[in-house]
Amino acid sequence: MDGRLRCLFCHPLVFDWAFAHVQRSKYQVLLLIIFIAVELLCMGIEAPRVSILSDGIIKMDGGSIFGQIPRYIWELKSKPDRLNRVSLGLNYLLVKYRGLNVLIDTGVGTKETGDLKDTYGISSGKLLRNLKKEGLSAKDINAVILTHLHFDHSGGCTKIDRSANIIPAFPKASYYVQEDCWKEAHNLNERSKDIHNAEDYSCLERSGQLVLINGDVQVLPGLNVKKTGGHCIGHQSVHINGGGEKIVFLGDIIPTSHHIDLSYIAANDQYPEETLENKRELIEEAVRDGWLVVFSHGTTTKAGYMEKRDGLVSLKPVTI
Ligand SMILES: [Zn+2]
Ligand SMILES: [Zn+2]
Repeated sequence: MDGRLRCLFCHPLVFDWAFAHVQRSKYQVLLLIIFIAVELLCMGIEAPRVSILSDGIIKMDGGSIFGQIPRYIWELKSKPDRLNRVSLGLNYLLVKYRGLNVLIDTGVGTKETGDLKDTYGISSGKLLRNLKKEGLSAKDINAVILTHLHFDHSGGCTKIDRSANIIPAFPKASYYVQEDCWKEAHNLNERSKDIHNAEDYSCLERSGQLVLINGDVQVLPGLNVKKTGGHCIGHQSVHINGGGEKIVFLGDIIPTSHHIDLSYIAANDQYPEETLENKRELIEEAVRDGWLVVFSHGTTTKAGYMEKRDGLVSLKPVTI
């Protein structure tokens, strides 16, 4: 299937059969109008098909992930290794909707070698293999929406070709990034340089595939971004609406289900107080409107519905 949910009535073979068996031209015209109307109706109620895929695992220092929370508390939720690192998923979303294949974030990808791979215990590079399981190749991806440009989200945007050149991993895709995130990633300081790698994204501008966006906008039909800074300048969460479904890919503003607790804010967030307020707003909306929330770094719990009881927010995990 081409990514669109079709009702049986809309199937081209059904139309061909009916058209061939209706003899008089005025009834054929009427039949054509009915088919077009049903097709348009189906487009309106079509639900996006969403899959959480994994590029692999990354290990980050527990102190940096859980911020001000003492180790004796966070280690009950996420057991660290002997280097004090906790395992995090490298999750990204594949959205099939209205004939388009869209990726939201890309994981670390295949370029990282040596020190960085050891430091972060990275086992990545599973993105293309997982797309293949979905019946897709890199050429089938029409758009990539990036929550931000840290290497664990943008690494898979590019790859090394046989001549050792860095090239876009998805040759036909447009890549959507907030403009101030892009500027920030080209103006790094002592804190931000270690979590960016210009090779992950710079060639996208040269190839003409970069689309810079500003603020809360609709990127594609049913796909909206909302600026949720705090983790870094220009961070955005991605909201998918269609067929009665509301799904949000949170990026690093709420990276795991543990971070639903408002006090859990990563130590490497650029503006932690801004993270706090954006989390508060997102969680309130997710509870009120029944969003399915997806965590970019969840391991066992990657998605779920938030619920509020007696003032406490909890998660009802789901697998998609
Ligand atoms: Zn990040
Ligand atoms: Zn991240």
